[in-house]
Amino acid sequence: MELRVLGCHGGETPAHRTSAFLIDGKVGIDAGALTSELTLAEQRRVQSVLVSHCHMDHIQDLATMADTRCQAGGPTLQLAGTEATIGALKAHFFNDLLWPDFTKIKTPKGPTIRYLVLKPEVTYDVSGYSVRAVLVSHTVESAAFVVRRGRSTIAYSGDTGPTTRLWEVLRSLDLKALLMEVSFPNAQQRLATASGHHTPRTLASELDKLGDRSDLPILLFHIKPTFERAVLRELTRIRGRNLSILHPGDTFIL
Ligand SMILES: [Zn+2]
Ligand SMILES: [Zn+2]
Repeated sequence: MELRVLGCHGGETPAHRTSAFLIDGKVGIDAGALTSELTLAEQRRVQSVLVSHCHMDHIQDLATMADTRCQAGGPTLQLAGTEATIGALKAHFFNDLLWPDFTKIKTPKGPTIRYLVLKPEVTYDVSGYSVRAVLVSHTVESAAFVVRRGRSTIAYSGDTGPTTRLWEVLRSLDLKALLMEVSFPNAQQRLATASGHHTPRTLASELDKLGDRSDLPILLFHIKPTFERAVLRELTRIRGRNLSILHPGDTFIL
């Protein structure tokens, strides 16, 4: 499984893009930088996007993605997420006001987009990948995803603060990597708690819930650009874990 990092920050500047990842060029995970970082030909190869939750930094490029897909004449782009996330996309994003309802706009190969509602903890086939959503803890309904193909399984935390069920699920898996959020420095703990995010301090105690998995690659994303230096400094104090900070353009074979 090839994992390409398109955007991996909790904010945007010319050097930072919001959350978006691409598996084998075919399945997106969140859409913070799906069109800003992909050529038209690359955009057209994306079959499905897993949407962790409805916050703008995770969905913003679905607008231009749908538009270019329509102009390309298909094929239908599938948007997969849990019920509240898909409901928010329908009601507040592709609502014929902020942006057209692309489920009603046909291409020669079918509707421009279609939705797939994922029931939590049920396994679905999404463009040939086995996908399971696990609800996490954020200010709106937010899901982690476990994605498997063949012998390769990865997990993506979505936006979350401290949570329990995700770690129970992850402990039972033979993971190649965990993409894990961390957003604010320890001095901003109140803001992190109020907004359902991690600081290096809460991240460290969450990782204890993984048990003895010190070799598991933990790929960190969603650092707020405003606080980047402080968060990076504090992360160096977490010992005994295989942590990496993600950068736009990183590619992993997992
Ligand atoms: Zn969020
Ligand atoms: Zn976010």
